Amino acid sequence: MKTIVLGKTGLEVSRVGIGGIPLNRPSEEKAIKVVQRALDLGVNFIDTANGYSESENRIGKAISGRREEVIIATKTGRRDKDAALQELEVSLERLRTDYIDIWQFHGINTAAILEKVLEPGGAMEGAQVALRKGKVRHIGFSSHNLEIAMKAVSSGQFETVQFPLNFVSDEAAPSLVPLARQEDMGFIAMKPFAGGRIRDADLAIKYLLQFDTVVPDPGVQKVEEIEEIVGIVDSESWEVSSQDLERIESIREKVGKRFCRQCTYCMPCPQEVFICGVLYLPILWELWPSDWFFNWDYVNHSVKSAKNCIRCGECEEKCPYLLPIREMIEESVNFFEQKAREYNRKEIKN
Ligand code: SF4
Ligand code: SF4
Repeated sequence: MKTIVLGKTGLEVSRVGIGGIPLNRPSEEKAIKVVQRALDLGVNFIDTANGYSESENRIGKAISGRREEVIIATKTGRRDKDAALQELEVSLERLRTDYIDIWQFHGINTAAILEKVLEPGGAMEGAQVALRKGKVRHIGFSSHNLEIAMKAVSSGQFETVQFPLNFVSDEAAPSLVPLARQEDMGFIAMKPFAGGRIRDADLAIKYLLQFDTVVPDPGVQKVEEIEEIVGIVDSESWEVSSQDLERIESIREKVGKRFCRQCTYCMPCPQEVFICGVLYLPILWELWPSDWFFNWDYVNHSVKSAKNCIRCGECEEKCPYLLPIREMIEESVNFFEQKAREYNRKEIKN
């Protein structure tokens, strides 16, 4: 497995890591096997978060007895010193370790959050305590907001940045990636498959391997998935051919820049619109047979909830991607209704 050095942390990480969210989906036994298979294949970088349900716990079980083989990055969503330090103890216990390699502040998406973390008594003060005690080795952050991420990188307070990067959502490529390089910070690329919108692993991973300071951390839930990804990294050439570029362009064209990353930051809606579900309808339509789609509670609940929208715009203020959610809700409902007409579905199933 090829490696890169993650900026000023000096950590030598495998050319691709794994992200911890999907490790919640399979049984615990299967999740443990996925992590252990990744380690066996030479993947030594695992990213998770205190807020990812069972993820830390499962990773902790999987790496039991193999701690020195792994570089663990986890995250805290707490913004003040004491709460962050308490959460760190929980992460350490779940991960069955006495140190975290990279401790990240989760979701630095607004100026107010950044300020809160860095102010006296903020989570950064806690991180400094943890650093002195050896419980944490390096400090990073994650974000979905480009402007705030640029500000945080320029602050000189962090050693790594984690941000979405893939060929559909590539806002960071001309801006944040070079800035992080200039600041000698490690760059962790989250959502390498654009939250499931890119289904061609070869294309997605090869695109990211072009960035020589970036480590992608694709979420995996099956052994075959990590084997496929490692196979791509281990292949002789990472060249993105002109044919690949054409495919990238056509996927970009299809997926567009108006797609919802399902990050849920816009929720809850005061009118109980299930925003993520509504915006996901056109994608689900492509993924499932029509019968399943129309009979699926998730779909029907989403469509029904959309009728409650009063177009107040509150959700748009919370969306880190600045999506025109009100317009997109309307488009999604129109899309559903058009399909329902085409397929003679007169009513939304209860
Ligand atoms: S615009 Fe609609 S979906 Fe958004 S917060 Fe307001 S009611 Fe909810
Ligand atoms: S609309 Fe925006 S905030 Fe809401 S889930 Fe989608 S990307 Fe996230």
